[in-house]
Amino acid sequence: MTDPLLPEYDFLVIGAGPAGLLAALTLSGAPHPGKPTQRIALVDKRDPWREPVPCAEAVHRHRLESLIPKVEPEWIRGPVDGAMFIAPDGTPVSFSTPASGYLIDRALMHRRLAEQAHAQGVQCNFRVRVTSLSRLVNGFRTAVYEVAQGSANPASASNAARVENASSIDKTIGSLRAKVVIDCSGPGMGFGVGEDITQGNFDVEPAVFALVKGPKYPVNYIQMFFGTNYAPGGYAWLFPRDEHVANVGLVVGRDYAQEAPARQALKTFLETTYPGSEILTFQGGAIPCGYPDAPLAVDNLYKAGDAANMVHPLSRAGITEAMTGGKYAALAGLKTIDIGSELERRLVYSEYKHDWDLAYGRSHRRLARIKKAFMRISDASFNRAAHAVAKLPAEKQTIARIVFATLWQSPLLLWKMRSVFWTK
Ligand SMILES: Cc1cc2nc3c(=O)[nH]c(=O)nc-3n(C[C@H](O)[C@H](O)[C@H](O)COP(=O)(O)OP(=O)(O)OC[C@H]3O[C@@H](n4cnc5c(N)ncnc54)[C@H](O)[C@@H]3O)c2cc1C
Repeated sequence: MTDPLLPEYDFLVIGAGPAGLLAALTLSGAPHPGKPTQRIALVDKRDPWREPVPCAEAVHRHRLESLIPKVEPEWIRGPVDGAMFIAPDGTPVSFSTPASGYLIDRALMHRRLAEQAHAQGVQCNFRVRVTSLSRLVNGFRTAVYEVAQGSANPASASNAARVENASSIDKTIGSLRAKVVIDCSGPGMGFGVGEDITQGNFDVEPAVFALVKGPKYPVNYIQMFFGTNYAPGGYAWLFPRDEHVANVGLVVGRDYAQEAPARQALKTFLETTYPGSEILTFQGGAIPCGYPDAPLAVDNLYKAGDAANMVHPLSRAGITEAMTGGKYAALAGLKTIDIGSELERRLVYSEYKHDWDLAYGRSHRRLARIKKAFMRISDASFNRAAHAVAKLPAEKQTIARIVFATLWQSPLLLWKMRSVFWTK
């Protein structure tokens, strides 16, 4: 799936993760009455199905199904039928939430969604790293890109030049221009720097994970470990891939990242919680959380997904959030492509932000406000809450009860929560 890139497009989508794939599918799947077919390019610097995707791969089932009507059974590693909360002293509390989520095979899902976009006419090239993006000039933004060494048929001769000199690595560089650009390149790429648009670099937290063999676990339950001994300011997890291999990882709060480097914290967690387990791979990533409340679009540049800080501030989930952002950005881009005045386009940008806020943003803003207090809940409070709930019969161990019990142990958080629920 390496289409030659043309010099000009209506839409350029940078990044083929969940946000970019949904943006490309929305652009190519939308009816365009009376208009010629849109020319759409979807580029990524790597195959979006390269394993392992840096993710624990848990999604809310209904949210995924509302975005992708045909979730293929082959993308599902298994159902999530419940969650286990583990307190700092090791006390487990289980919640049964049958069929509430999926553990997905993201690599395969990315591949199938990319194939679908390609079949709908999107030109896909997954060897292309965009290195810079100009401002809007005469109705176009120009993207400069380089193509990975050894890729087949990377770009048309008209807009690419071979760079081969003694000092440089053999690579192809080129440029293309597009009327609308949707930046779905994940955290921190910095397209649109200096323009009035979010940069996806707010409250960035380190997250690491390992694929491990050896631990014993119920295959349909996700496990989350809270406490400073596991992951200060964040949490550690075990999410099953299948009955043999689990994704074990952790995210550390940004304020604690220096004192508790994530990689070291995960090594310690694995050694103490799952001694003797076999580590198949060890990888890291970054999670831009919080709610920066910055514009999501300017001058026909749209941002979606991690590139727009769309991750849930507490759970750090971002897959369906990114898909939603990509879809809304594409719908807005389809409206602004033919509008010449930035003033008029701004109305559509506000609609995009409004739609995002209704779907997730407003709730993220509220949660971001209490995040610091949440991160400071003491280990003793978590332990007491877990002990209280663990005494209840299984059917009464609910998420609401553990949240309530934890809040009850943390009057400061309870006090802060009042502003979350009583203000806009
Ligand atoms: C360790 C870890 C575990 C996680 N677990 C979960 C989980 O269980 N559930 C959940 O919902 N969320 C999880 N998340 C968050 C989730 O992975 C992200 O929120 C989600 O992937 C965001 O999607 P996206 O499309 O915005 O960005 P990405 O998935 O990051 O995709 C961005 C794409 O852009 C490409 N790209 C970047 N720069 C360029 C460039 N210059 N030119 C071309 N292409 C470029 C990249 O190669 C990449 O394919 C986790 C994150 C981490 C780090």
